[in-house]
Formats: sequence, C-alpha cells, structure tokens
Amino acid sequence: MKEYQIDVQLSSNLKEKPAFDQLSFGTVFTDHMFIMDYTEGMGWHDARIVPYQPISLDPSAIIFHYGQTVFEGLKAYNTKDNEILLFRPDENMKRLNRSNKRLVIPEIDEDFALYALKKLIAVDKDWVPSVEGTSLYVRPFIFATEPYLGVRPSAQYSFVIILSPVGAYYKEGINPVKIAVEGDFVRAVKGGTGNAKTAGNYAASLKAQHDAEKQGYSQVLWLDGRENKYIEEVGSMNVFFKIDGEVVTPELNGSILEGITRKSVIELLQYWNIPVVERKISIEELFAAHHEGKLEEAFGTGTAAVISPIGELSWNGEKITVNNLETGPLAKKIYDSLTGIQTGVAEDPFGWRVVVETE
Ligand SMILES: *Cc1c(COP(=O)(O)O)cnc(C)c1O
Repeated sequence: MKEYQIDVQLSSNLKEKPAFDQLSFGTVFTDHMFIMDYTEGMGWHDARIVPYQPISLDPSAIIFHYGQTVFEGLKAYNTKDNEILLFRPDENMKRLNRSNKRLVIPEIDEDFALYALKKLIAVDKDWVPSVEGTSLYVRPFIFATEPYLGVRPSAQYSFVIILSPVGAYYKEGINPVKIAVEGDFVRAVKGGTGNAKTAGNYAASLKAQHDAEKQGYSQVLWLDGRENKYIEEVGSMNVFFKIDGEVVTPELNGSILEGITRKSVIELLQYWNIPVVERKISIEELFAAHHEGKLEEAFGTGTAAVISPIGELSWNGEKITVNNLETGPLAKKIYDSLTGIQTGVAEDPFGWRVVVETE
C-alpha cells in the first residue's frame, strides 16, 4: 500500500457522549471529521482530520444551485470483543466513484478513501456504540465548492466524512410496514441519475413520500419512469418478493440504485440454494401473484434497516396484505444472518467484514 498522508488535528474540547441506549438516527455527531479538497490542476489535496465543525462556502458555490454532489452510507459495529467492524466498505468506495463519474466529479483513490475512513473511526473509536442494535453510521460525501453560477462541472470540490452513532432501527423487533404504490411521481428514469447516490434523487422523492405519509403509509413503492409499470425500489431501499418459492428482485436497469445489501442478499440466497432471480416485475404481476395466493413475502433492503418487511401494499384503490402483516421466515432468516455477520456474532463465510485497527 502507498504511504498516505493525513494531517490530524485533535479536538481539545471533546463533546459529552449521548446515552448509547437512547440513540435515534442522524442527530448526534462525533468529535472529528475527515476533509480533503480538490482543485483543478492540483487534484485531491490537503487530507486532514479536524474537529467536527461547520463548513464555510461561498453562496454561489455550485452545490447550492445545481446539486453536483454524491454520498455514501455504511455502518461500523462494535463487537463483543471490542473490535470495530465494517461491512464491505470497499463496495461503498467503488460505488462512490461510479456516482462520481455520473455527476462529472473527479474520482477519488478508493484505497486512500477507505484508509481515511478507518483512520477517522479509529480517532473517534469511543463513539462506536456497543449496545445491541446500535452502530456508528458513516457518511462520506463529495460536493462542488467552486463559486460560479454558470452550469458546468465545478473545478473545486470537498470530500468529507462524518460519523454519527445511531440507535437500533427496530426498537421492538422488525415490523412490517404499509406501502403505497406510487402511480404518478417517479424517483428516477432510465438515463437519469437513479443509479448514482446523489442528492437530486432524494429531492425528487420527497413529495411522494410526504403525501404517502399523510395517507398513513410509511413509504412508497416506485414504478419505472417510462411505462409506470415495472417495480423499481421501495422508499430508498431495494425491494425483494418471494413468489411461489422463488425470490424475485427488479433487475438493475440504470434507474435503480445498486444496493450493497441487495447484492449481499442475492449472494446469501445463492449460498443457501434458494432460487433468486433478477428480472423485470410489473405491479400487475405482483398483484396477480397475490390473488393466486403465491405472494409469500415482500421486503426492502438497505444499510439503515438491513431488512424492512412489507406488510401491506395499496395500488389503484386495492389493498393487499402480505404474510398476514407479519415478518416472514425468509426476511427473518436474512436479517439474522446479515446482522450476525455485520456484528461479529456469526461466521463470515464470504469475507465481508473489515476490521478497523485502533492500535
Ligand atoms: C443507498 C440506497 C439503497 C441501499 O443501498 P445499500 O448499499 O444497501 O445501503 C437503495 N436505494 C437507494 C435509492 C439508495 O440511495
């Protein structure tokens, strides 16, 4: 490995840590952050770990006006033996660069970014909670900082990593949620930025999400943006269905975000010899499968919740319930296996875990 240079400026004013058994999501941040800048002609430079602090930007910075930005999300876990584990973080760095390419943001050195991420976690190691179900959420992001109102890719960027201890996603075990199938708004279209982890996709999703919540639903099920027919994702998670013994997930089509949890679920199912296919699946087909009694389970997958079972689906004035509004055995098995690997209580036959050295 190359020699990497990161300047470390430790905080002289450490924060009081929150009660780790009362954490929610994304409200508390650790003592330090990583930051590195990009300037055209110079490349990425000035990698540093500094006290967590506000960022000062010119009001004309491109990020504010045209949304040239990408992000990642992953978690670090404290094991029973006080080891800190990451789950497939190399996949996050690869995806960050795929997102960069789509947003015309200069690529980062993936090995260096992972090294920086681990180093930051090591500095703030006392912030990795050890209460069951908790973790340290890691948010790397890159944004355009050049002050300029013209529309073109920025000549300057910052790459920042922040850390946030987060609580158990499910306080009383995993609970199936109610989902509204979205018939009007779309999250992304083929040829757009749906397969990049970029802010604009989230901005585009807020209205449908907001309306669905007002109607008593947790999330929306997104259909494709061309024909409004094929299932793409659920909320900001990938989606799986168990139909007549076979697991089906929408195939990657350019508008679906390639989740690392999705990829891991597919690999787990293959390892267990449970039939799994990636293909187009229409909302008509899904409801027809339910009418024939063949829809056994439905669940979303993503880093935040890992597995989120779907208990009810509403579409075109019809409501169907899946598995009696209960968590299905497959969703439970996948949840237990993945969280077992992530938290170090189970074997890791795939070599997915990465240890953070804290000296
Ligand atoms: C991040 C994300 C996912 C889930 O990806 P994971 O790598 O599994 O966390 C799914 N859909 C969208 C739109 C996302 O942004």
